[in-house]
Amino acid sequence: MKQSVKNPNCASICDMSDLYYGISDIKVQNDFLLYQKLTIKLHKRYRGKLTKLKTQEAFKMFQLLEARNSVGRKICRYAYLYYILHLNDLKVQKFYQGVVDKMSELDAKFDFIPQEILLLSEKTINLWLKDRMLHSYAPAIKYYRRFQKFQVPDEVNKVLIAKNSTSTDAFVRLYHECFERLWYRINGRKYNFGMAEKIFTNSRGAARKRISDEFVRVYKENAQQFAFIYNVLMRDKAINDGIQNLSNPVDSINLWNDIDNKSVEVLTNTVVANYRNISQRFFKLKAKLQKQKQIPVWEVWLPVSFAKTQTYPFEVARKIILNAFHKFSPKLFKIANVAFKDKWIDAEVRAGKLNGAMALDINSSHHPYVMLNYHAQFWDLRELAHELGHACHFVLYSNQSILNNNTPPILAEVASVFCEHLVYDEILRNVKDDKEKLALLLEILQNKINISLRQIAFHLFESRAYAERKKGELSAERIAEILHEEESKYYGSAVKLRDEPSHWWISLHHIFDFMFYCYSYSFAGGIVNSLYKVYCDKSVSNFENKYLNMLSETGIKNYKELLKPFGLDPTKNDFWQQGLNVISDYLDEAEKLSRKLKL
Ligand SMILES: [Zn+2]
Repeated sequence: MKQSVKNPNCASICDMSDLYYGISDIKVQNDFLLYQKLTIKLHKRYRGKLTKLKTQEAFKMFQLLEARNSVGRKICRYAYLYYILHLNDLKVQKFYQGVVDKMSELDAKFDFIPQEILLLSEKTINLWLKDRMLHSYAPAIKYYRRFQKFQVPDEVNKVLIAKNSTSTDAFVRLYHECFERLWYRINGRKYNFGMAEKIFTNSRGAARKRISDEFVRVYKENAQQFAFIYNVLMRDKAINDGIQNLSNPVDSINLWNDIDNKSVEVLTNTVVANYRNISQRFFKLKAKLQKQKQIPVWEVWLPVSFAKTQTYPFEVARKIILNAFHKFSPKLFKIANVAFKDKWIDAEVRAGKLNGAMALDINSSHHPYVMLNYHAQFWDLRELAHELGHACHFVLYSNQSILNNNTPPILAEVASVFCEHLVYDEILRNVKDDKEKLALLLEILQNKINISLRQIAFHLFESRAYAERKKGELSAERIAEILHEEESKYYGSAVKLRDEPSHWWISLHHIFDFMFYCYSYSFAGGIVNSLYKVYCDKSVSNFENKYLNMLSETGIKNYKELLKPFGLDPTKNDFWQQGLNVISDYLDEAEKLSRKLKL
């Protein structure tokens, strides 16, 4: 049975049949049996024996682990992708949960390897790291060792892994399914979020306000259950962090990012100090150009009224993105071109599909996939370029062992945000009219500000909510209030928020499914601003090769090392400010243009 999603009228629906023909494909079962066999083999051969392993035997163990992880990743990613494209299908839900349950059972058995690597003496580790045969696994060994300080007893670790599918994962799944079951009444008809968002995006004036009110109504009616889920997830994280002796909620993601808390603090403080000069100044300019004293919050993402109504049908977006990629790097173009041609991308908006966007890597022998809900607005074009940036990155590092595929979020987002910049330049290059150019600059600015500044407002919201949760459960109203306060600071006086804090935090899926991830966007945004500046200045020779090479090594080197070939040092005090200055320069240009046009 061919289960890939087909629709002859839309070229942007992905084809997963080269992975499996469907959830009942016998190959899924066979791969699972293989995964099970390899896990048991690893367990029997190596459990409790790592201290005595000779390097040659350690090499064989890593090879086996590599093969096991490769097939495991393929099944998990397929199940997840299939599930997020069919959220309302009971059969698919059952299939997905079945995979999660079986995997967590087996993973609890397997997890002895990272655990035992943590227990190895420095002498053994140094021997392994110096060994030529083990050289290709050195980054993975170092990655496991990074968590040494926070190691938990083996038995506790097993319980944590086994119970994950009934705690964190279960509540994340509950969140997505509850959110997808929300319906919005617009003009007498009921729509799911994706469709309602599409109508909202294309609406203006009173109609737009009515739809925004409907979002507010639906969120308010359902706020209690989402507040419960959010409270459980925060508490669950606190328990897990407590067991691992992680004192700060960002510790876990910082360990993964390989950065210290101080760096995040410096970034956060620098961004907040720039609210006035960047985000607030931007919205002031936008309000002035709109001839409004204040922009109502539901109109914040509307293009300025003098902008030509510009939409980007999928085919148009494809051409823009491919041209932009080609100008920068034929290699990047080649990957993206195959992504379009071979249907790696699922862009159609339809009921039962997860909202938002993402790219998923499979393994080194299989291409990645991209999922988004394409509404043909500027924002969607940006999102498509962003996710394709991730997909290209996955392909570029696929020559590394799957064990070394530990790219941290801050570097993953560099690959995606950099591609957004390429597309911005491509569009700006083709605009001749000053008015149009100004409208476009404002769109670009809003997206840049969203990544570099607004995500820090979300980070501060998460931090405050989490700190308060430690003292007890938060009501839905309190959660809304905290977000309202952080947003007010970010927007300043030129944006009119609703008088009563609304419950739109419900739609911020990262706060549920990836807590404390948001700051990674801002971190990556800062790095990209600096990288893009040296690219445009032509101050670094052979930039393209250096950049692509950097992407192929994101799982094996720290961000500081990776930025060295570009002469960039993120430990310098003014590094983040320099990045933000790039946005400020864009804003200066927009203000200059508005004065020139007497708008
Ligand atoms: Zn991303």
